[in-house]
Amino acid sequence: MNDAKVTLWGWKGFLPTSTTQLSPSSLLIHLTSDPSVMARCHQCGADCPDIHDTSLRRVRDCDLFECRVWLEVPVRRVRCGDCGVSREKLDWLVLHSRITERLRSHLEVLLQLMPLKHVAGLTGLHWHTLKQIDKARLSRTLLPPDLSSLRYLVMDEFALFKGHRYATVVINAENRQVLWVGEGRSRKDIRPFFTWLGKHCKRIRAVAMDMNTAMDLEVQKHCLNASVVYDLFHVVAKFGREVIDRVRVDQANKLREDKPARNIIKRSRWLLLRNRENLSDHQDVRLKELLAANQPLLIVCLMKEQLKSLWYAPTEKVAQQRWVQWYQQALDSALEPLIRFAKRLKPYINGIISSASHHLNTSVLEGMNNRIKVIKRMAYGYRDNEYFFLKIKAAFPGLPR
Ligand SMILES: [Zn+2]
Repeated sequence: MNDAKVTLWGWKGFLPTSTTQLSPSSLLIHLTSDPSVMARCHQCGADCPDIHDTSLRRVRDCDLFECRVWLEVPVRRVRCGDCGVSREKLDWLVLHSRITERLRSHLEVLLQLMPLKHVAGLTGLHWHTLKQIDKARLSRTLLPPDLSSLRYLVMDEFALFKGHRYATVVINAENRQVLWVGEGRSRKDIRPFFTWLGKHCKRIRAVAMDMNTAMDLEVQKHCLNASVVYDLFHVVAKFGREVIDRVRVDQANKLREDKPARNIIKRSRWLLLRNRENLSDHQDVRLKELLAANQPLLIVCLMKEQLKSLWYAPTEKVAQQRWVQWYQQALDSALEPLIRFAKRLKPYINGIISSASHHLNTSVLEGMNNRIKVIKRMAYGYRDNEYFFLKIKAAFPGLPR
């Protein structure tokens, strides 16, 4: 009979005695100790018949029908032969917790299904309590990455709060698992990653990253066998901002007298910056018409495609040839933004040519940047970087091999 009660309610060692309706939608259930179940010591788990004292604790359990449920639990302290005065051990209620283990498991599921703010609204629990529950789950369930066959890395940085502070993220380029996230982006800030990587540093063959960061010097210092590769995603995004967009604005300004033509160019930003393969047939026709009518825009769009081909070169030698050609064409174009960009790219070219030897797929970066923004929105306001970083790691657990 007792076992049946235990199974039904789940409050092992206790029996319900009475209820108090706290409000139309909340119920308080009073519990009493079950005389047939012996109290155990919290520290050593031994049975303890000797009770020192009892105090009432009010904790939250799962909802019952439409009611929020609180329990009033007479928690005891026992006199343990080995430990002295000690708290009673309860499997369904962790020491000092204000919610039952059953409710905690339920909340863990909800927190994986919807934003924390929604769970707070649904349950009436404080966001801080929920954040701690989610954080504890992530710390418990995230497995340490397998470093034994790690060869290729991608390093990137992202803004933490409105561009004032940054964080650095490191990914295994082959399975897309986030290996490490840390605050800051200076050499000193990212050094702990290499310390953590330890003996595995020497196996790293290439590291992809954005140009002009503190990362390459730090990589060269710790990973003696690694090439630095500048990734396509960042360079092409930069080309879009500094060349295509600049030329588009210049061209629109030149057409001041021709309002309709000017408007077409002004509204073409998205069309021009989008990857061509992602355009619909209709958009593709619009782009073709736009480029046919505007020589400078056509040139910079073609130059973007040719720039990309550097990363897809079969060998470093071919990449080198393509670069020489590209650079000369840029200088001959008479388009100021393009010439400026080419000159600024030149000192970094070895890091682009070396991509021919290490075909690193860094397309993960684009998706990751967007995903981090979404996580940031959902975790915004909590100002807890540790939690934010755990969420990022959980979102990129790595593809199965
Ligand atoms: Zn004990």
